[in-house]
Amino acid sequence: MNIPFVNLKRMHDPIREEIDRAISEVIDANNYINGRQVKEFETDFAQFLGVQSVIGMSSGTDALFLALKVGGVREGDYVITVPNTFIATTEAISMTGAKILFTDVEENSSNMSPEKLETLLDTMDKKIADKIKAIIFVDLYGSPRDLDKIYQIAKAHDILLISDAAQAHGATIDNKPITDFAHISTYSFYPGKNLGAFGDAGAIATNDKEIADKIRQLRNHGRTEKYIHNMEGYNCRIDTLQAAILKVKLKSLAGWNTHRIKTAGLYNEHLSRKGMFCPAVNGKYGAVFHLYVTRSEARDSSMKKLKEAGVGVGVHYPVPLHLQPAYRRLGYKPGDFPVSEKLSETIISLPMDGAITPEEVKYVCNLLP
Ligand SMILES: *Cc1c(COP(=O)(O)O)cnc(C)c1O
Repeated sequence: MNIPFVNLKRMHDPIREEIDRAISEVIDANNYINGRQVKEFETDFAQFLGVQSVIGMSSGTDALFLALKVGGVREGDYVITVPNTFIATTEAISMTGAKILFTDVEENSSNMSPEKLETLLDTMDKKIADKIKAIIFVDLYGSPRDLDKIYQIAKAHDILLISDAAQAHGATIDNKPITDFAHISTYSFYPGKNLGAFGDAGAIATNDKEIADKIRQLRNHGRTEKYIHNMEGYNCRIDTLQAAILKVKLKSLAGWNTHRIKTAGLYNEHLSRKGMFCPAVNGKYGAVFHLYVTRSEARDSSMKKLKEAGVGVGVHYPVPLHLQPAYRRLGYKPGDFPVSEKLSETIISLPMDGAITPEEVKYVCNLLP
């Protein structure tokens, strides 16, 4: 059986005509920048998330960058994040001129460890501590586990908390939106994400009106009116075309997320019988399973077997950022963040999307030892 890692076609087919119509409307109106669909999508996505303001952005990476900029992060400052994330998280830090400070994750959740963060902040050299301007928590695989605890720590230390929710559209904590547990949340609509555009796009979500207003200006050349610039800004706008497509796709997101959560439960049923690692489903932390990630000591042979049987698999992520060639200058070495390193050697991401079938899940699980 051929089972792609993500089957976008199958998710798009039922809404294809509506998407085609939305694209045609934008072309008919010839309003490609800041068209009415941008505002409409922002309003709809804010309602979906349960947050006051959403600002559409050119990508998830740019959303992280502007979140840091609006937080006043600049050259010489420090920003804390985890080593087991996509490099966009740390690229955004470097784009501001600030320095990256890693803290390790908790083994069970794969997310930032509240205990380790607290130890880092408490034992930090005072000179550096004063320059820590932000923490970026990554809701990895769509799980916000411990984000609430990290938010308490950030507030106690008066540090801006950004939640990199690029994989977590619709995730909750105690049935509350995760946007309640960070000063700023950033989203990516990279095509394969839970809500994906037909190209690059992203968003910032916040309950702070002042932050929202400033981001709106920063993303659009610092504009208040067409040729009045309050400050120098950037070009980080979302395309009208992408907003129009996302507005249509958003109507399916709740259903796709429910399907992902159900599928994760089904994977757990199969894999727990084999004694394999199973991520938590439907507890205090409402994960939306952008990825379903189990663990295997014999990962390489398992992946080989799955690939040979036509199953798309992945590793998110195979090399922790502190050991990437791009960050050699930071001087980290193997052993510095042992949990992230250990996870990178055993994690394996199985096929997951908004329309995968129970038969496909069973086929995948039967191939695992
Ligand atoms: C996808 C992703 C990003 C980057 O988003 P882009 O829209 O591709 O720029 C950032 N952080 C995480 C955790 C991601 O998964």
